[in-house]
Parts: sequence; structure tokens; C-alpha cells
Amino acid sequence: MNIFVSILIPAFNESINIPIIYQELIKELTKRSDYYEILFVDDGSTDNTLEQIQKLASSYSEVKYLSFTRNFGKEPAIYAGLQHARGDAVIIMDADLQHPTHMIHPLIDGFKEGFDQVIAQRNRIGESFMRSRLSCLYYSIMKQFVEVDLKDGQGDFRLLSRRAVNTVLTMGERYRFSKGLFSWIGYNQKVIMYDNHARGKGESKWSLKKLIDYGIEGVASFNHKPLRLCLYTGFITLFLAILYIFFIFGEFLINGISVPGYFTTISSVLFLGGIQLVSLGIIGEYVGRIYHETKQRPLYITQYSNIGRKKNVHKFK
Ligand code: UDP
Ligand code: MG
Repeated sequence: MNIFVSILIPAFNESINIPIIYQELIKELTKRSDYYEILFVDDGSTDNTLEQIQKLASSYSEVKYLSFTRNFGKEPAIYAGLQHARGDAVIIMDADLQHPTHMIHPLIDGFKEGFDQVIAQRNRIGESFMRSRLSCLYYSIMKQFVEVDLKDGQGDFRLLSRRAVNTVLTMGERYRFSKGLFSWIGYNQKVIMYDNHARGKGESKWSLKKLIDYGIEGVASFNHKPLRLCLYTGFITLFLAILYIFFIFGEFLINGISVPGYFTTISSVLFLGGIQLVSLGIIGEYVGRIYHETKQRPLYITQYSNIGRKKNVHKFK
């Protein structure tokens, strides 16, 4: 049975990698009898990524692309790609050659066996010690906070069946955390392991701040446990404060007014102030999300594309 596969590649400043990944993909794809399209989503690159993609598209009809008006982020790029992919199955992979192209065979085979999600899971060989420790820590914290099942090494590199794609597309939230969404939708899944690869050309686009933001995203887009944590901390602090007030009052009854305690005053003010600020911050996270969701802005704006003649702004109902 031959199927139609869409390979979805979000790309931000990957001009050097575009021709390479195309060649590598074609090498693998031509070994199969399945039909395919390669869909690049240029996420507002500032180098000549778009020109590279357009060059490929003008020579090869299986190359499709969308190009955003600015950098919207990898998540909107994936969403846009899923909206425009036409395949029976969609494989999402990075442009930087960290996702080995030969993996498309087990991915497609998994789909043909009847799995709706075939996940390529990476081991952490060759990764910096700090980075893999941090990732481990992140996933163990996430386990405590989030109901969806996130696994270390399982990212966006995976195959989704048409119905899994359609399900993901029904979730039009602006703050997206694909890893979580993919896990949340369920369906029967198969996991295939592969060896971690060093990045091809160019820099990783993730700064430490972006990683931390992504971590917060993961927790906050799936539940409101941190809000509850605030509440508990508040209760405990209040309880301790009341005990302390009784204690001082008792001391006052027994000993009369003692020397005003600078230390206790300042430390309690600071402690309470700190807790209040943290709580406000957490509430702010959620209020901010509500604010952005209610604005109902499009997730991305397309500027150039060779896919049909659709309206160039994609809005949700
Ligand atoms: N990417 C994107 N928009 C961004 C950042 C990254 O489309 O704002 C793409 C990037 O071109 C690559 C993939 O997302 O194809 C993964 O990015 P990167 O390699 O920087 O992340 P890492 O592999 O370090 O997680
Ligand atoms: Mg990468």
C-alpha cells in the first residue's frame, strides 16, 4: 500500500542546511514507492533561507513552502505546517540535520502497521553534561506538575496520522506546547529510538532564557497546579505568622515591652513580600495567557507561499 507522506520542516535561519536536508531526504524518499511532499515553513528567517527554499521549489514540484512575515517561533511554524500538509501522514523534523533522515523508513512503516503516532525518541549520547542533567531535572519536575505524560528525548520528531493531525488542529490555542499536545491527544503510539546527532550548520536557536520560558510554558499550559501551590504556601505562611504573633504577645504579657526587634521585623516583611511577589507572578502567568487567548489573534501571518491561493492570514473560528 502506497501512502502520501508530508515531511514538515520548520526553518529559521537555516540557509546552509536547506539544500543538504533536501538532498538527504530525497535520497531516502526515492527508495520508497510512497508519494511525498516536502513542506518547508520559513519562520521569518533573516538570512537567505527563503531564497534557498524557493530555488528548490522552482525545480522540484514536491517542494512546498510557506513563509512568515516575521519570526513567530517554532510552535506556530509547526501549526502552520500541519494546517497546510496534505499527506495521509505528516512527519515533523528539524532543518538542522539533528533528526536523521533514514528514520523516515521506520516512521512510515510504523504508520502502515496502524499506529497514529510514531515517535522518534533520541538518546542523549554526545550531549553536554550540563544540558542532559538539566533536561533530566526538567522532566522530573514536569512529572510532578503536569498530568500529560512527557518523556525525555521525545520531542517534535514524529509521524502523525491524518486523524491525529486533524485532532491537533482543533486545538487552536495561542500558547502552544506541541510536545504536551501530542501526548495529550493520545491515540495508539509506537516509539523508535535513534542516536543523538550534533547540530549541522548554524547555531541552536535556543538561549537559556528561551529554554526556561519553554519550561514554564510546559507547566502553565497544562494545568493550574502552580496557582494552588501559591495558595498552600500562603496558608502555611499565614499559619506560621499567627503562631509568631501569639508568641510575641505572650512574651509581651510576661516580660513587658522588650527592645524592638529589627531583625524579626525586617525578616518577616521580606519573607512575606517574597511570597506575595511569587504568588502574584504565578497569577500573572495565567492572567497573561487568558489575555492572549481572548485577543484571538492569528498564530502566524504568511507572506509568501506556493500552496494554492488561500487568504494570506489564517484565522481561527
Ligand atoms: N526554528 C523555528 N523557529 C524558531 C526557532 C527554531 O522554526 O524561532 C526551527 C529551526 O530552524 C530548526 C528547529 O526549529 O529546524 C529546531 O531548532 P533548533 O535546532 O534551534 O533547536 P534545538 O534542536 O536546539 O532544540
Ligand atoms: Mg537543533
